[in-house]
Amino acid sequence: MSEMPFILSNRDEDRKIFEAMINKTMASFFRTMGDGKAFSGIDPYSLRRKVKEMGFLPEKGIGFDAALSKVEETVLANLLRTWSTSYMPHLHSPALLETICSELLIASFNDSMDSWDQGPAATEVEEAVIGGLLSLFGYPEGSDGTFTSGGSQSNISAIIAARDYYLDRVFSTDTKKKGMPPEYSTLRLYTSEISHFSMDKACHIMGLGYDSVRKIPVDDKCRIDLKAFERMVEEDRAKGLHPFCAVATIGTTDFGSIDPIGGMREICDRYGIHLHADAAYGSGAIMSSTYKSRLGDLSLADSITIDFHKMFLLPISCSAVLMKNGKKLECFQLHADYLNREEDEEDGYINLVGKSMQTTRRFDALKVLMAFQTRGREGFDEMITKVIDNASHFFHLINNDEDFISSVEPELSSVVFALKDGDEVNRRVRRMLLEKGTVIGQTVKDGKVMLKFTLLNPNLEKEDFPPIISEIKKCRDKVKEEM
Ligand SMILES: *Cc1c(COP(=O)(O)O)cnc(C)c1O
Repeated sequence: MSEMPFILSNRDEDRKIFEAMINKTMASFFRTMGDGKAFSGIDPYSLRRKVKEMGFLPEKGIGFDAALSKVEETVLANLLRTWSTSYMPHLHSPALLETICSELLIASFNDSMDSWDQGPAATEVEEAVIGGLLSLFGYPEGSDGTFTSGGSQSNISAIIAARDYYLDRVFSTDTKKKGMPPEYSTLRLYTSEISHFSMDKACHIMGLGYDSVRKIPVDDKCRIDLKAFERMVEEDRAKGLHPFCAVATIGTTDFGSIDPIGGMREICDRYGIHLHADAAYGSGAIMSSTYKSRLGDLSLADSITIDFHKMFLLPISCSAVLMKNGKKLECFQLHADYLNREEDEEDGYINLVGKSMQTTRRFDALKVLMAFQTRGREGFDEMITKVIDNASHFFHLINNDEDFISSVEPELSSVVFALKDGDEVNRRVRRMLLEKGTVIGQTVKDGKVMLKFTLLNPNLEKEDFPPIISEIKKCRDKVKEEM
């Protein structure tokens, strides 16, 4: 029996094959990188047909070279180029080179975060990185955290922990064992009307439903209206409802607006509410010596969501949730005989499965370690300060241009604006740009269709804006001719 092909092993031949495959893969990537455009512009129907034509599972494999060339032609050619400076619709960034290299190591070793014996150094690195993050965000001794698959999972993890703690404290319920008490449906979560939809999704998954999410109005700067927040809490309490959690958005997905964490803390303290900071977007600004004060004091929050695959420019996925009272994360603790034996934990073998919703889990913390070591705080300061400066510069260009309507002045790196010509023109302009390989965002504000630039790419220069603005105007003229 010969050895199985294409499986990592210590044999010399396999190492050579692996190296050659990596070189071929890189060559394929460089051939398809393109000329700077964000997208080939292919329409969805043609792309769907081409993908189908590749087939699914041939009886006999075609081998790596043929598979790679098939993928190069159909898939790589039509992938989105996140590094393009004409890509700015979402909180979706180009990846730092050292972190792409880390991905190769993460996949090659394929260690897992559930137990110490599945990732000895991985476990110790994640714990050390979490420790560093806890102090970066000003959390005290006794705080704790874990890496997650993304901001949505970080948010739901925090909300579940808040719920279990609340039910234990207020209804003396052991939810892990007994499930939810009869009063469960009276629980309410508070967040702004423009917060991320993962809060609604979380409350649905947790059996509370969308209606348990109380949407607080925002002021003219898209920040939570504190008076309305307190009024809603009081009204709900008077009705016999139970406010258990509030979520401050530290960087709303569309506007980058930042809720007042200090004011929310005072209200939450008055009513015994867990305050979660959804800093999936804004957390990156902690690295900017110029702008970090805009975030407010995040250490006032009971838990914090950090996304590394947004402002921090790490490859997807990479996120963490921090918990000021680390004990609240014990809601995910469960002992399995085969995995995380208590006797091992007494001897210093940490099993991180006990802090997470996931079991098998990627060693994403390596990417943070590599990026932080490579660039230092100064390196991140420069990149993140630059993208926030860019947003402010673009906002002022739009604000002084009669063809556009501007929106709130950005605190982070997103600018929402519109052409003065109405919803349909704005909609069609965005679509026309996509077909030409320039990808920008679209959203709605006060019932109006708006365009959006989410500026995460530090390679974008101030000089790049005037040509993009004139491209938008050219599209507008063409769209108006066609209408
Ligand atoms: C992106 C985002 C999320 C969701 O994070 P994922 O990593 O996409 O799951 C949550 N909250 C805010 C404010 C976000 O911008």
